[in-house]
Amino acid sequence: MTHGYPETHVLYRRLTHSFPLVVRGEGCYLYDAEGKRYLDGCGGAYVANLGHGVQELVEEISAQMRKVAYVSGVAFTNEAVETLADELAALLPGDLDKLHFLTSGSDAIEAALKLARQYWVETGRPGKHKIVALAPAYHGNTLLALSVSAREHYQTYFRDWLVPTARVPAPYAYRCGCGGSGECPQCSGAALEEVLLREGPETVAAFIGEPVGGSSTGASVPREDYWKRVREICDRHRVLWVADEILVGAGRTGTWSALERYGAVPDIMVLGKGISGGYAALSAVAAPERILDPLARGSGALLHAQTFAQSPVMCAAGVAAIRYLKRHHLVERCRCLGEVLHRRLEPLRDLPAVGDVRGRGLLAGIELVADKATRAPFPRSLRLAERLTEEAQRAGLLVWPNTGHADGVNGDLVVLAPPFVIEESQIEEMVGMLSLALRRTLERMEYRES
Ligand code: PLP
Repeated sequence: MTHGYPETHVLYRRLTHSFPLVVRGEGCYLYDAEGKRYLDGCGGAYVANLGHGVQELVEEISAQMRKVAYVSGVAFTNEAVETLADELAALLPGDLDKLHFLTSGSDAIEAALKLARQYWVETGRPGKHKIVALAPAYHGNTLLALSVSAREHYQTYFRDWLVPTARVPAPYAYRCGCGGSGECPQCSGAALEEVLLREGPETVAAFIGEPVGGSSTGASVPREDYWKRVREICDRHRVLWVADEILVGAGRTGTWSALERYGAVPDIMVLGKGISGGYAALSAVAAPERILDPLARGSGALLHAQTFAQSPVMCAAGVAAIRYLKRHHLVERCRCLGEVLHRRLEPLRDLPAVGDVRGRGLLAGIELVADKATRAPFPRSLRLAERLTEEAQRAGLLVWPNTGHADGVNGDLVVLAPPFVIEESQIEEMVGMLSLALRRTLERMEYRES
């Protein structure tokens, strides 16, 4: 039986595709109903950081289910949410020690931006309503999260419903005129100040950005001083800085938060994906008392009511995941194996069409270009990133594609983000399979390097 629209009752993520049916996961591998094995090179959608099928986690989460599966956060608190907030507050930088839990990254981005807006209204500055964001960037697919995402193809049909967002060019060295080396406003962070001055800082509520690039810039790593510069600019102009660590947080770049390496603390941080390792849907908004106190004195609540906010089972998954990461030293492992991954990926630069290889920890982007000298992208009509991803999946490797980063339409890259439990031999297997899939894809396209 094939699993595709309209043969079954599922409204699938893609309506023109037939999906393999996954029946089991173990460590870095997934198995489908036909017995085919896949090396999960991207943790699904950057989620399965702890690996698949970890029975310890299942036991801990089901213990919570046996005690109480759901209570409303309006009437009660619960042990799991209290413990999870304590655990995360101890791990996050600076004064980010109050946490609110939701079920998706998009929800948490909405809540974080609403919190920023509420803060300004409740401190007597209602004129501060605009949001400034990086481009390329992705922050989710609900309407406010989509508004701040620079994703043309997701926005087109909904443009009339979106909130206008001012854009700052992202610190994306490979696609910057200075190549990431010089003191240009895009790479140094100074471009943010130009945009704030143009918009009028007295009208801006928040600036949002990913501390290290996720899919949108294919794991581009900003300069060491970038986020300190952003912190200074936001302080100077009284703009709240929201750090989106949904993809790059929870250890993915080799430290608990990706910002740790930059020594800069945002006003609000958002987490998701890997904080539960995929054992339940979970996201979080972290904020300090100095931002929450005006709400406590004013409206009395974060005005983002959701049924599953703070609910016990998802929070128990967060507690189990964090304790597992700590017990097995998986963040340190991610840092060490990240170095192995990047060493193994270096030779890919010699392959046809590979323009750049970059990243941090167990997060790596491989950008593909039609011309290595000019960095010209392939035409979008060739669908290279999608074809490579499909070829890799046929060969038994899962990678995450991204498109449009070169100029809003064109651009092809794939991202690797394997579970932190990956072994060196599996890294070798992953890189080998990716190289082979790329060669095959280019052969099928009859691509010849000029
Ligand atoms: N922010 C970033 C950086 C993401 O990568 C994503 C999802 O890919 C989101 C936000 C949205 O998260 P979700 O898909 O869980 O709503």
